[in-house]
Amino acid sequence: MTDSIFSHRVPAPSENNYQKYRPYIREDFHECCAYCLMHERFANGESNFELDHFKPKAKFKKLKEEYTNIYYSCHVCNKGKWQHWPSELRSKGYRFVDTCSENFSDHFVDEDGYWKPISHAGEYTEEMIRLNSRHHIEIRQMIKNLFNQYTGSLLDWNKPLKDQIDPIIDALNK
Ligand SMILES: [Zn+2]
Repeated sequence: MTDSIFSHRVPAPSENNYQKYRPYIREDFHECCAYCLMHERFANGESNFELDHFKPKAKFKKLKEEYTNIYYSCHVCNKGKWQHWPSELRSKGYRFVDTCSENFSDHFVDEDGYWKPISHAGEYTEEMIRLNSRHHIEIRQMIKNLFNQYTGSLLDWNKPLKDQIDPIIDALNK
């Protein structure tokens, strides 16, 4: 097991406008949201995905075009995250889970689709981004059941969802 779900490519592309990073970022995040971990096909498709500044550009102006600060995010998660960055609470561990340096299991346990936070960062992220909306829980249950039915094993949120689901979708389309 690697120690993070996603990682930015090395060497990072260098552009003067972060929007130009989109195709690379999309690939680095395996077409999945950095926060709810949904793949585009379960989250309204590619046009529903945005480039998020992990450290908000309003507060970290120098990081606006910094490749490693750009995360792929679905619209709802990006909206929930917005410009929040808990500088004071950070010392207590309340911060956004960073899926480019950490694993899912460092912060959550999946209990039948409900992501139970097991760290302060997990709690903070769950609350700010509303990771346990009824929709999230239902779609996770559906995807987990599908995966289990076809592979006989358990879906692992520590790995990008696309890599686990693609072989099943390919098989279904044959
Ligand atoms: Zn999301």
